[in-house]
Amino acid sequence: MRVTVIGSGYVGLVVGACLADSGNDVICADIDALKVEKLWKGIVPFFEPGLDDIVLRNVEQGRLRFTTDVEKAVRDGGIVFIAVGTPQGDDGSAELRFVDQVATTIGKTLAGGENVLVDGLKVVLTKSTVPVGTSDRIRALIAEHAQLPCAVCSNPEFLKEGDAVNDFLKPDRIVIGTPDSPEGLIAAKVLQDLYAPFNRTHDRVHFMDVRSSELTKYAANALLATKISFMNDLANLAERVGADIEKVRVGIGSDPRIGYQFLFPGTGYGGSCFPKDVKALLHTSEMNGNPLRILAAVDAVNRDQKTILLRKVKAHYGTESLAGRTFAVWGLAFKPRTDDMREAPSIDLIEGLLAAGARVSAHDPQSMENAREFFGDRITYCDLNYACLEGADALIVVTEWSAFRRPDFDLIAATLKSPVIFDGRNLYEPERLAQRGFTYYAIGRGTPLPV
Ligand code: NAD
Repeated sequence: MRVTVIGSGYVGLVVGACLADSGNDVICADIDALKVEKLWKGIVPFFEPGLDDIVLRNVEQGRLRFTTDVEKAVRDGGIVFIAVGTPQGDDGSAELRFVDQVATTIGKTLAGGENVLVDGLKVVLTKSTVPVGTSDRIRALIAEHAQLPCAVCSNPEFLKEGDAVNDFLKPDRIVIGTPDSPEGLIAAKVLQDLYAPFNRTHDRVHFMDVRSSELTKYAANALLATKISFMNDLANLAERVGADIEKVRVGIGSDPRIGYQFLFPGTGYGGSCFPKDVKALLHTSEMNGNPLRILAAVDAVNRDQKTILLRKVKAHYGTESLAGRTFAVWGLAFKPRTDDMREAPSIDLIEGLLAAGARVSAHDPQSMENAREFFGDRITYCDLNYACLEGADALIVVTEWSAFRRPDFDLIAATLKSPVIFDGRNLYEPERLAQRGFTYYAIGRGTPLPV
């Protein structure tokens, strides 16, 4: 099939590369010329395990092409994915500027010149996470320019950064919202066919109406964010009442109705999706006279949780000012196996430490380059995690990279000025660290913060 993907970021590139790898002829468009130039050389401009091999292989075999000419790309594909960003607007809503631009370009392109169609149709899919009603808005923008047969469908993406290729190749589910029209029926058949290679063991495609599909994506992210905020809130209570959240986590996770996943307490959720999607769904709910009160609390808890490590540090030293102190920070990316630092808890922590007068030495296995965009030369970057410890008063662990899970505690104790660890991910055993002479702070186990 001839497939076009507009927007070649985390989502667009994974979608384009994986569809090319299953034999489709794919063209990915992006307005970022530097990105397109790199991609032609097989260089993926961000870290995503396994993606570079797939991109390179499919570029070499001629199934994956890139362009900055969005019109040409639209013309070239019978199936057109919209995978541009939908960042957070000032009022919390999802900003649709990029989506609107693309919809207008599609309309203008359909209005003039030759266009590749599939079964007599242009099938347009929103992969971007968009508020309910956006696909209708896209259809209206296209219709301002063109009357060519066209079905605008919703096909939200559920991939996780760090495991995006696997998620696309072996999805839990493929949600597709099609319009209730003859074009919608044709589009459904086309898409069932497109996704057949990822759907071999059993049918994972859930067809539904467009609005339900759009809401499904927000509902999934909002529920996952709710689990995280619930556990973080509970962890802080556990400290106050002398319970250990890790024992509570295992105790409740063993109930299959609850499950073990997404129950880890930590320093708050970050990344390019949960924070903005929670706010956007909240905005939609308020605009529609049905505010989701639980989500308002999820967002508020998360904002507080992002300051938990800073508050623990200040409580340990008994002072608001951290002038004259240096902290080693392990982990900058918002989660392991990615270099993405968008909304990462490390940003709140490091900004807070710097504002309190402290110095910071930081290490992350993948996101050091991105970190420079956030902190410039205000912090020291260390290529090795142990190098951060030299001259530092304490170690703060923010991201649970595997390399930080079983470190050399003797080396840590010998290098730090004093053996103090603030662990934002509960990676270590409090008793064992106490035996080794560490003062150890985790989340939801041990010393509560002063009221
Ligand atoms: P991104 O910022 O990495 O990529 C977006 C790309 O779109 C950029 O390369 C940008 O240059 C390009 N672009 C912007 N306007 C364009 C235009 N008019 N024409 C062509 N290209 C244009 O964003 P992302 O992380 O890939 O997210 C894209 C969408 O997918 C968002 O709605 C996001 O919420 C959603 N999503 C993201 C993830 C994730 O983990 N990153 C997962 C699921 C869904």
